[in-house]
Amino acid sequence: MRFSQYPINTTKETPAEAEVTSHQLMLRAGMIRRVAAGIYSWLPLGLRVVRKVEHIIREEMNRAGALEILMPAVQPAELWQESGRWIEYGPELLRLKDRHERDFVVGPTHEEVVTDIARRELRSYRQLPVNFYQIQTKFRDEVRPRFGVMRGREFIMKDAYSFHADEASMAAGYAAMRAAYVRMFTRMQLNFRSVQADTGAIGGSASEEFQVLADSGEDAIAVSDGDGFAANVELAPAAAPTQARAVPAQALEKVATPHMKTIADLSAFLGVPREQCLKTLLVDATDGGVVALVLRGDHELNPVKAQKLKGVANPLRMASAAAVKAASGSEPGFLGPVGLDCPIYADHAARNLADFVCGANAPDLHLQGVNWARDLPEPASADLRNVVDGDPSPTGKGQLRIVRGIEVGHIFQLGRKYSQAMNATVLDESGQSITMLMGCYGIGVTRIVAASIEQNHDERGIIWPDPLAPFHVVLIPLNLQKSAPVRAAADALYAELAAAGVEVLYDDRDARPGVKFADAELLGIPHRLVLGERGLQAGSCEYRHRRAADNEDIPLASVTRFIKAKLAG
Ligand code: ATP
Ligand code: MG
Repeated sequence: MRFSQYPINTTKETPAEAEVTSHQLMLRAGMIRRVAAGIYSWLPLGLRVVRKVEHIIREEMNRAGALEILMPAVQPAELWQESGRWIEYGPELLRLKDRHERDFVVGPTHEEVVTDIARRELRSYRQLPVNFYQIQTKFRDEVRPRFGVMRGREFIMKDAYSFHADEASMAAGYAAMRAAYVRMFTRMQLNFRSVQADTGAIGGSASEEFQVLADSGEDAIAVSDGDGFAANVELAPAAAPTQARAVPAQALEKVATPHMKTIADLSAFLGVPREQCLKTLLVDATDGGVVALVLRGDHELNPVKAQKLKGVANPLRMASAAAVKAASGSEPGFLGPVGLDCPIYADHAARNLADFVCGANAPDLHLQGVNWARDLPEPASADLRNVVDGDPSPTGKGQLRIVRGIEVGHIFQLGRKYSQAMNATVLDESGQSITMLMGCYGIGVTRIVAASIEQNHDERGIIWPDPLAPFHVVLIPLNLQKSAPVRAAADALYAELAAAGVEVLYDDRDARPGVKFADAELLGIPHRLVLGERGLQAGSCEYRHRRAADNEDIPLASVTRFIKAKLAG
């Protein structure tokens, strides 16, 4: 590609709209342009990277025996009514009507359409297992689209769905996809972890996320330093304290705590550590009332765990001010479990406290020296909190560390959720009709592009790993416009490299070398060749890797071989 024919606008300024590095660099490098919130156009350079990601995914999906299909982006509401998700899905689902007033959705995912295909095409157990995949545009009306293409509303996903006659086959299909994902992300040179994940509303038996490790990631992951345990914090179990609770030593006392509504304020005001104070949250119950969730002041509520508790509404909802008032006689800020008129769950760590501080269910008042069993009934206890750095690993080996990740893939054993609702059956060996089992496997194609940049950049720009680079080599001739020999040599080298299958960005623009160098670094082309008059006389050109500090002189005659070896290595 000749740069002179490539209308690409790079900028030095950091765009104000971009919070994370990848978004900033993608805008500065002219890879993407915003069209509306969470909706982007991919310009030529950016699209080349998307295609690289897709290519690796296709190769590995095909190698794993999956079959590529292409389903429509716009789907009839009937299929969603059949699965029950027309009602369940909520405002992330973009709904629309055609000219006949018929309801449609723009697909946020394709379980319904693929299950419809399966029930029509698959008749016999002999046709199973089968795995259909596609690479296609999705639309989700995200509450908070942000970080550019990382959390867009329109984005490209690879989604795959497998169909099986029995559990063992579903587990084998899942394992095959897991292995394919490891190969793909390894080939993309991402630093990733697979982690146990919540199966959410979908249920099902097994689920793992593939998380690219990056400080800007939206997900918190708990990783054990003692063994291979890794789980999304949403799911990671907090081990219950092993020490017995201390015996009460203090008398119960009411203390005035004017305006002390937060644990931090309260702890400072009373001179009591945060972990000795309780926080009490009221959430909606399934029966229309409320449930109290009690945590140590230094711990955070885990909504995914809490909404699975018996009697707690799922999804979790904080109780209304009126409901709080009815149950406690007070307002939030001074809530406590003593005398509360509703069911109470205390986190294991909160239940293990003695002589604690909690709200008195009255404005500007707290209780001090409170003890379970003595001053209020023993509560039901449960795992309600997020694990924190230093917690023991649930496997009993080592301690947990919390790291941040970007979810680039998610694999699921779905079971019969969709096949049952949509009556997707085949005949088994004895001619009986059986409902198929399913697995589903997603990858955020466009999110991977951003995730790779989060892991590969410096203050000057992007640093692409070879397999994702939009071009392998940037060829920068010096003084091209004035020197005929340089132009002739550069043209020849460009042709030679291209003929050898090397993807070259040939910077033949009439621009200063400094501009060309800066652009090459911003765009993140991994290998740079500089050809000047002096080098030409010596029969060489300068090579530098994007990560290297120094140039190497390479004889012109062996440049192509040299680059090919670099790309193979
Ligand atoms: P998240 O928790 O990030 O919202 P999800 O659980 O909703 O993800 P899935 O439904 O499993 O995601 O979709 C499969 C993959 O699609 C995800 O692993 C992620 O890489 C990608 N993805 C999901 N939502 C978005 C989005 N809004 N923008 C870009 N990629 C996305
Ligand atoms: Mg989502």
